[in-house]
This record gives sequence, C-alpha cells and structure tokens, in this order.
Amino acid sequence: MRRITLFGATGSVGQSAIDLIARDDQAYNVVALTGGRNLERLAKDAVRLKADLAVTCYPECYDDLKALLSGTDVEVAAGPDAVAEAASRPVDWALSAIVGSAGLVPGLEALAHGTTLALANKESLVTAGPLLLGRAKAHGATVLPVDSEHSAVFQALVGEHMAAVERVIITASGGAFRDWPIEKLATATLAEASHHPNWNMGQRITIDSASMFNKAMELIETKEFFKVSPDMIEVLVHRESLIHAMVGFNDGALMAHVGPPDMRHAIGYALHWPERKELPVARLDLAQIGSLTFEAPDDARYPALGIAKRVMKEGGLTGAVFNAAKERALDGFIGGEIGFLDMSRVVAATLDKMSSADGLQNAAITLDNVLETDRLARIRAGEAISQLG
Ligand code: NAD
Ligand code: MG
Repeated sequence: MRRITLFGATGSVGQSAIDLIARDDQAYNVVALTGGRNLERLAKDAVRLKADLAVTCYPECYDDLKALLSGTDVEVAAGPDAVAEAASRPVDWALSAIVGSAGLVPGLEALAHGTTLALANKESLVTAGPLLLGRAKAHGATVLPVDSEHSAVFQALVGEHMAAVERVIITASGGAFRDWPIEKLATATLAEASHHPNWNMGQRITIDSASMFNKAMELIETKEFFKVSPDMIEVLVHRESLIHAMVGFNDGALMAHVGPPDMRHAIGYALHWPERKELPVARLDLAQIGSLTFEAPDDARYPALGIAKRVMKEGGLTGAVFNAAKERALDGFIGGEIGFLDMSRVVAATLDKMSSADGLQNAAITLDNVLETDRLARIRAGEAISQLG
C-alpha cells in the first residue's frame, strides 16, 4: 500500500484527489489529511479514508475537530506547526493543494523527508522556486507538477531533451471577463469575478483567472519548474480550455496536450507517475467540438501578465513580493476594500516600493528571507491599498 498525505484536502484540488483515491482505497494508506475551517468535510473524509491524522490549520478549530472525530481512531491536531509536523511523517507521495504561500513550509518539510511532492500550490514556486526545488534536489525527492498547464508541459517533454525546446506555450481561457468591454472592468463585482467559464475551482484561483494573475503566476511557475528563460514562455488565449499547453521544439513541431478541463487528469497523472493509468475523465469528441480558437492576450486588459514579465526578469525575492502583494490585494478585493482593477495597481505599487529599496533581486532565497519578505510585502500592499482611496 502506498502511504499518502493530502495537504489542502478539503479544497477543490484536494477533493478531486480524494475522488480518485476513494475509488481505489485498497491501494492507499492515508497518513494525514489537512484542511482549514471546513471541519465536517475534513472529519468525514478522515473517517472514510481511515486517515491516521486530521489537521486543521486554525488552532481555534481544534476543539470542534476533536469533537467531530471523538470515538474514532483519527488523531487530531491544529495550527500551522501541526501542518508542518504532518509533513514530516513518512509517506511515499504527498499532494500540496493548500492555497497561498502557506503551502511553502509544509512542502519544504515533505521534501526534506524525501517525499514525492505533487505540487498544485503554485504560490510556493512563485515565492521560492529555487528554495523548493533545491530542497528536493538535496534530499533526492521528486516534485511533480499538478497545475494543468505544467502537467501538460511535463507530459509533452517525456523522452525529450530540454536543449531541443524552443518555446513553451501555456493556454488561458481569458477568465470571467474575457468578453467585457475594458471600461466596465473597474466595476466588476466579487460575484461576477468568482465564476469561471470552463473550470470549477476554489474562489481565489477563479478570481485570479479573471484578472489573469493566475496566468501571471503560471508564467513564473513555468520558468522556475522547467528552468526555461522567460522569453521562451508564451501565453495563448484559448477559450475552450481543451489544449492546456504546448511545447515547441527546434524542428518546428508543437506537442500539444489535449484533454477535458478536469483536474483529476493532472492529479491522476502525478498520482500514478511514471505510469499512465486509466482515469475517470470524459473522453473528448473532437468532431463534435468542431473547432478550437486561439488569440493573443491583450496586455491592456490583463496588466498582470506584464507584471509577471518584470518579476521573471528581476528574479531573487521579487517573486515573494509579487505573490504576497497579490494575496493581500485579492483579500482586499474579496473584502470590498478595493475594486477589481486596483489589484494590479496594488501589486505594481508594492513591487515599485520594495524592489528598488531593499535589494531584493540579489538577496539569497532562504526560508527566513522569504518569510520576512512575504510579511513586509503584505504590509506594503496594505499601505498601497490605503493610498488608493
Ligand atoms: P481551495 O480554496 O478550494 O482549497 C484550499 C485548501 O487549502 C483548503 O483545504 C484550505 O483549508 C487550505 N488552506 C487555506 N489556507 C490555508 C493555510 N493558511 N494553511 C493551511 N491550509 C490552508 O483552493 P484550490 O482551488 O483547491 O487550490 C489549491 C491550490 O491549487 C492553489 O495553489 C491553486 O492555485 C492550485 N490550483 C488549483 C486548481 C483548481 O482547479 N482548483 C488548478 C490548478 C492549481
Ligand atoms: Mg493552471
């Protein structure tokens, strides 16, 4: 039996992983499940999957989780340290599906124990890619991409040499506002931004898809994970979300990964890697679909893409500033403090303030530096939010 742990088990990616695992529960020994405030879901899945341990990242939720799991064999813990402790328990495979830079520490901890890490948590690559991948290398651990575009690139590269790669194209649906007049974007509401045309995902990544901050993060994620130069990476708007990425080779060939917009594909590929096994995803009928469309992204509509290019160029701890400022700006939009277009203004202003003053580009990417930068960038982004009014 393979020992596995799921971080962020109660979220959208976590639940898709549980759907796959529960179909074949004889094959897995679930060591730990972690979640947040959805304690009933966490407790129910911990019992159903016979997990050894259930952890909520919120210390104040301990008693409620304990009560829900009383009379069962499931051990209960709470708080960020308990999530990190769960990551130190030996397993063969762990899914990192926490949202936000909170996923970094458990990911590092799992890799330090040699665990194969299936990484949906793109924020940890954006924030501290060299630290995360360096940790994996130092401990002989493997990181497998779970973001659909990066899983697609990873699959297109099987058997290939990176020296033959000319470009990597990641696709974008265009998000909730792809057909809105640009002038209307300033008035976009939370409810309107929280609806994705093709994918069913957590609220934060859905809003990030509408602003294309999600694609901006994925550009950085591509650079970090595949170690390709930023000028080799392109974003292509593809409304149907059926081609997830393409790799262009030096003979002019493009290898495209085509599949339904269902995260169980990328999760399942990482779960069974290096084998490919049957998955319960829809089979595409391309004759019925008829046509696929492609457009260049409109930089004026999606300023986040330009910001990502700047971050890739500057490097160092700039990614940590970018991610933290984006998380703070997103909190601001969700909380009604700022408008939809203000999010990119806040992120750009935070980068302006911090990148020149603090020598971020040349600083070492250590955990202490990353956590301190993350903390400061949230403060600076908060100041930028107050200055907007
Ligand atoms: P979600 O909001 O649905 O779930 C997030 C999970 O993280 C929950 O289990 C929550 O309890 C947990 N969590 C939240 N804050 C935490 C904290 N501070 N400490 C520990 N745990 C915390 O999010 P999601 O849509 O499943 O996305 C998860 C990650 O996967 C994100 O990094 C996202 O960018 C990435 N991703 C998601 C999708 C998708 O289809 N949803 C696709 C590609 C990549
Ligand atoms: Mg993606």
